[in-house]
Formats: sequence, structure tokens, C-alpha cells
Amino acid sequence: MRYEGTVYRPPSEAYSLIIQVTIGCAHNECTFCDMYKDKKFRVRKIEEVYEDLENARKYYGVVKKIFLADGDALVLKNEYLEAVLIKIKELFPECERVSVYATPKDVIRKSEEDLIKLRDLGITIMYMGVESGSDEILKDVKKGVTSQEMIQAGKKIVQSGIKLSVTLISGLGGKEKWKQHAVESARVISEIDPHYLGLLTLMVNPNTEMYEKFKDGEMELLSPKEVMVETRELIKNLEVTNCVFRSNHASNYAPLAANLNKEKKSLLNQLDNLIEEDCEFKGEVFRRF
Ligand code: SF4
Repeated sequence: MRYEGTVYRPPSEAYSLIIQVTIGCAHNECTFCDMYKDKKFRVRKIEEVYEDLENARKYYGVVKKIFLADGDALVLKNEYLEAVLIKIKELFPECERVSVYATPKDVIRKSEEDLIKLRDLGITIMYMGVESGSDEILKDVKKGVTSQEMIQAGKKIVQSGIKLSVTLISGLGGKEKWKQHAVESARVISEIDPHYLGLLTLMVNPNTEMYEKFKDGEMELLSPKEVMVETRELIKNLEVTNCVFRSNHASNYAPLAANLNKEKKSLLNQLDNLIEEDCEFKGEVFRRF
């Protein structure tokens, strides 16, 4: 298998076979993200992807999960994705799920029939980075989409029958905009009503535009306790049907997990304890993105 540059995948794809169908991210402008800064976006030749799949077949016994990388595989035309999914079915009949990162613009560009076709050919879950529900913050971080587009894209995935996992980044609005970040994010996630919600915590990497802002004093980061206060505000305002909430990523100061809305009350109590008591949060040196 040939991998180009650093390959990223969602934590839940830790044991998946990863196949790069694109290199980098077509957007590549978010001010907090340095994942694909060293890569110029391009689509891989489909023959190369087939070769990687064939090689993987020779080396791996049972492959249950496949993740199509890099940053936004859904940017590809449906014909390309369908051909790759058919090849996967031929080579890995045991594969139970194929997943991709999906940007809201890619999802909106696809028709409902396109999404259903992808579902029928094996894509069972899509990961979408919402980051924040605040239009002001989305603009600040150059996400390239509005909260309304986030809602439209998220709902479209859910309606197509594909599972949707979304992420938010706590602290993304800094000290100045923490409240609007929490309240507006809760509004957007409630409207989308996804199957999974992951909450990461902002880490400002020196290789990003956001770092310059932080260095120049234009943005103040939240303390671990302030992150808990912001998270409490988010959870308090969140109204979802049946959503698995996880905030146990390497970037988080404290591990949190709950099924929402069922366990909302106990999650709020847990957050109250973290806010009121003299807790020891994870040290900065142990945090990773
Ligand atoms: S956050 Fe996602 S969309 Fe934004 S630059 Fe990074 S990979 Fe691309």
C-alpha cells in the first residue's frame, strides 16, 4: 500500500483499512487546521486505488471496515466513488462498513439519489466537522460554510439513511465568544439530530493561521474549567433524539460520555462536579489532536 504524507482518520476508524482516494483537502483553509497544509489537493487515479485495494487483499485476512481518505473523499464524483465501492465489494465481501469525511458543501452538491446509491453500495457512516454553530465563528475560522448549510447537509445525510457523526471543537470562539459558540452549536446540532456527536477541544498548532491570531493577542484561549462551563452550556441547550455523545478524544481535558437525551441529566451533574470541585484536568503536555 502507498500512503502519501500523514494520513488522518477519525478515532473510531483506528482498526480500519485506510485507502487514500484523494490527497489532501479541497478546502484546506480552516484557520485552526494544519492536517493537510503540506499537501496540494488532487484526486488519485482510480487505477492506483484499485492497486492499493488489491495489495491490501493480499496482506490482510479479514477486513471489516474501510475508511476512504483524505480530508473530504465525498468531493469525488459519484461515478468514481461508486466504482471504488463496487471494487471493495468484489475484493472484500466481508467488509461491513465503508466511511468517509464529508464537508457540508460536498453533501449539498450531491443529489439525494447519489447519497442513497452510496449507502446501497456500502457507505454506512459519514463524518462531518461542524466545529461551531455560530456563523460569526464559522466565518472567523474560514470554514467556508454557514450554519444553515451545516444543517442542510447534516439533515440530508441522516435522511439518506447513512449514519452521521459530527464534531464540534470546544473553545473555538475563545473567551470572547464562548457563550454564542455553545448556544449556537446546540441549535445547529439539535436541528441536525445526528447519530453521534464528538466534542474535541481546541489546540492551537503553530503551523496555523489561528496561532498567529493567538500570538498577537487577538484571541484568548479557555482554561480547562472554562471549557467545562462552555460544554455545560452546550449540553443544557441540546435537544436530540438518540445521539451518542463522546468527549474522550486525546485533545479533551476530561473524558465525558453519554447517550443523549437519555443521560443528559447525569452528564450535566458530572459537568457541575468538574466545574465546582477542585479537579485535576489533563495536563497540556498530554493533550494531542
Ligand atoms: S478542518 Fe476539514 S475542511 Fe477544514 S481544512 Fe481541515 S480538513 Fe479541510
